[in-house]
Amino acid sequence: MEIQKVLWPTDFSDGARAALPYIRSLAAGHNAEIHVLHVLEDVFHHEGWYGEFDKEHIEKLMEKAGKKAEDRLAQICDRYLEGCPLFIRHVAVGDPASEILRLVEKEKMDTVVMSSRGKTGSFSFGSITDRVVKNSPVPVTVIPAE
Ligand code: ATP
Ligand code: MN
Repeated sequence: MEIQKVLWPTDFSDGARAALPYIRSLAAGHNAEIHVLHVLEDVFHHEGWYGEFDKEHIEKLMEKAGKKAEDRLAQICDRYLEGCPLFIRHVAVGDPASEILRLVEKEKMDTVVMSSRGKTGSFSFGSITDRVVKNSPVPVTVIPAE
């Protein structure tokens, strides 16, 4: 099996970063692209917000959040992914597990590597990782987080 595209989803937590050493060596060994994805929660889903805030304001907020996420992804690439041949950044809006799976299909990722935990870290196995493992059409490697 040829591995050309590796997807690493991150919520910017320390837990998520536990997957990085593995991703770096996997990608380097295969000369593969590293795709980094952050998913922003869509505030439009909270119906109550419609009445309280105007749409334009929310749109501006989302735009700002999107730019901030892009900056943070760029920072990660600079700081932790030097030496990898290629990295591609993605920002999506919506439910994290659905967006991760959607990008797998859309970009035809060969594999997903992600940590067992994220930001919340209160359970031994995160709900997003759980859903990705159970629904992904490609192999998923789960890196145990401390
Ligand atoms: P909880 O299930 O309560 O959220 P958790 O935050 O510890 O617990 P997950 O959310 O499943 O666990 O996080 C595990 C991994 O899922 C993260 O390390 C990251 O790879 C991915 N992930 C979670 N949220 C996002 C997100 N918003 N964008 C991209 N990846 C995410
Ligand atoms: Mn989480």
